[in-house]
Amino acid sequence: MIVPSRFPILAAALAFLETGVFARVASGDDAAFGARRMAMVRAIEEAGVRDSITLAAMGTVPRHEFVLARDSARAYDDEPLPIGQDQTISQPYIVAFMTQALRPRPGLKVLEVGTGSGYQAAVLAQTGCKVYTVEIIRALADSARARLVRLGFTGIEVRHGDGYQGWPEVAPFDAIMLTAAPEQIPQELVRQLAPGGRLVAPVGGQHQAQKLVLLEKDRSGRVRRTVLLPVWFVPMQRGLR
Ligand code: SAH
Repeated sequence: MIVPSRFPILAAALAFLETGVFARVASGDDAAFGARRMAMVRAIEEAGVRDSITLAAMGTVPRHEFVLARDSARAYDDEPLPIGQDQTISQPYIVAFMTQALRPRPGLKVLEVGTGSGYQAAVLAQTGCKVYTVEIIRALADSARARLVRLGFTGIEVRHGDGYQGWPEVAPFDAIMLTAAPEQIPQELVRQLAPGGRLVAPVGGQHQAQKLVLLEKDRSGRVRRTVLLPVWFVPMQRGLR
């Protein structure tokens, strides 16, 4: 694979990938989609995401398989897209930014709240993390699970459940990502974060400005909060559907 030298980190990331440590899972892919995906990853790197593991993972996941068929030509544009059930998949830059914020690496145990299409879970899995993802709408949980199996992703458990409860049987998690916005970060999720762990979440009401917030829990259990970016996400809901 030839990558222009002005993208040294991406080139290093792709070289890393060629080592075959992680699954190559662009099934249903073709050269045109592959080229657009590489352009997307270069744009994300230019926009400031520099973590090589994150960039490499973004380069392997066929986003066009996670959006509605009518939108597949736009799958590698930097925009959110509908995934059915009034929900949306985030724009690729935000997916990469949030992934990088968790400092993913092989062997970490990660909880995602809001499976949606399964795209973010797939990106996390491609960094080598073991992913547990919870979705409150059964139809989305079922279709995401089937899609991830069909595309050959491993190391992802999908549960139909309420993310406010986390996944107590598996906790504590090294990292937690919310992809729907609560008004405040649920205390139960902070509790399920391991010492030394990182949690990233959009926070704010539906009609308010939301902020992307990072929580870092230190070894003694103290939590530090940093605001990273203004964002817009669908609201986190209560009640299984
Ligand atoms: N991460 C997804 C996009 C998420 S959209 C992707 O990559 O495609 C936000 C998702 O959060 C929606 O699917 C929505 O149904 C789900 N959601 C909302 N409230 C939730 C809750 N309390 N628990 C689990 N999932 C929730």
